[in-house]
Amino acid sequence: MAPTKNAPFAAASSAPPHFVIVPHAGQGHLIPMVDLARLLTTRGARVSFITTPLTAERLRGVADRAARDGLTLDIVALPFSAADAAGLPADCENTDRLTDNAQFLPFVNSMRALAAPFESFLRSTPMRPCCIVSDGSNPWAVEPARRLGIPRLFFHAVSCFYSLCDLNTTQHRLHEKLLAADEKTSHVIPGMPVRVEVTRDTCPGYLVEEGWVVLHNEAMEALRTADGMVINTFAELEPQFIAAFDKALGGDKPVWTIGPLFINNRDDAALSAAHRNNHHEVAIDAWLDGQAPRSVVYVNFGSLARKLPAQLFEVGHGLEDSGKPFLWVVKESEVTSPEVQDWMSAFESRTAGRGLVVRGWAPQLAILSHGAVGGFVTHCGWNALLEAIVNGVPMVTWPHFADQFLTEKLAVDVFGVGLSIGATRPVLILDDESVKVTRGDVARAVSELMGDSEEAEERRRKTGEYGEKARRAMEKGGSSYENLTRLIERFTRVEGKKNTKE
Ligand code: UDP
Repeated sequence: MAPTKNAPFAAASSAPPHFVIVPHAGQGHLIPMVDLARLLTTRGARVSFITTPLTAERLRGVADRAARDGLTLDIVALPFSAADAAGLPADCENTDRLTDNAQFLPFVNSMRALAAPFESFLRSTPMRPCCIVSDGSNPWAVEPARRLGIPRLFFHAVSCFYSLCDLNTTQHRLHEKLLAADEKTSHVIPGMPVRVEVTRDTCPGYLVEEGWVVLHNEAMEALRTADGMVINTFAELEPQFIAAFDKALGGDKPVWTIGPLFINNRDDAALSAAHRNNHHEVAIDAWLDGQAPRSVVYVNFGSLARKLPAQLFEVGHGLEDSGKPFLWVVKESEVTSPEVQDWMSAFESRTAGRGLVVRGWAPQLAILSHGAVGGFVTHCGWNALLEAIVNGVPMVTWPHFADQFLTEKLAVDVFGVGLSIGATRPVLILDDESVKVTRGDVARAVSELMGDSEEAEERRRKTGEYGEKARRAMEKGGSSYENLTRLIERFTRVEGKKNTKE
């Protein structure tokens, strides 16, 4: 390995500690795991990043870039066939390839086929791994790790607040009460440092059918039997929830808060290579350069949520009615017919100069860090929230499903960095069925977010403060930086001892 600036562990022993990362193949999970892989390698570790052939191909830019930087990051493609594993189309190796909600559960379950090749990899890799970091969606990684006696950390691509809600809901068997109740009945999650009410629709876990309940139970068991937990958050952001989570886990399982993982680290260009359109990036940058500081509202609902035309049109009309400059990301899969295409063209002509519509994947981190962006309409994905906070961009919160309703609560009620658009019920992951949020809701929320009321100023101030704290956490001496140092030391030591005994 070529020497790197920060390689303390490579110097301490002849071989660097070997971490094995097992991500879930959806962008919201995959991207922070790639960030984690890069971070570990810049701190002197070797990383094997486990995935399937098509995703490995998409990550080729990440591997090439790491190699150029002298980092030991191997993308390991295990043999896999979505068609054999679940009867899915051959290219279904990432959630962004799914076209139908019914494919979701089979897709997640299809990854169980990786358990055997994963174990073969662990047995055959010449450098014994010191630690496996596996996403909570991969319970199939538990047994291979146990059989080989390799420590395993549980990674969850959400806040500590959400993880605590999830654990407490499960431990207090709140799901049973919620499932027996109607959709309007709410219950308070026990054991939380703040009052958190949930309904059947907004509770942690995705309990829409038996298969998801099975997966959720397996994930909770994977957490219970893990050697610790890695969370993409930082101590100064949610201290009360980190302390409560630590206690709820029994106090003997380390909770490593080591984020935001992307700060000074994300290889944005390489990551978005599979989606990328250079023309987009140049055009976006040029357009933002022409806008006044903090004047633009950025609108993007993450990698999964897909809007049907009626809801899409309400977003467009709302942005138009708000009178504010906007940058709106519309997925190719949302432009479903010539009618929608015509509507978009007419909309773009009407709003030309004041708004920019980007089709497909947008370079979100670059956009949020541009000085012209002053607000973000977000679906409350945890990555989106962290990316906004770090860049001091307050949010209109519009949760769609899964953890997003609880993340909204955190953003609005606890952090004070968000303004709720008023979505009350989840939509299905890929398609919503009816208009739930109107143009009036969009226009009102955007105007208020981008306005100069005391509340709007306060949101800006708080977001900026958290951004500062986040950057400090990732600097040498900062909480996340030092936690990562301790994490690497801990597993380097454990493995060292084991090798001595053998
Ligand atoms: N993302 C992006 N461009 C897009 C959409 C998403 O770069 O057009 C990135 C975004 O920056 C984030 C991740 O994809 O890092 C999505 O994760 P998040 O938790 O926000 O939401 P999810 O996609 O899981 O719903």
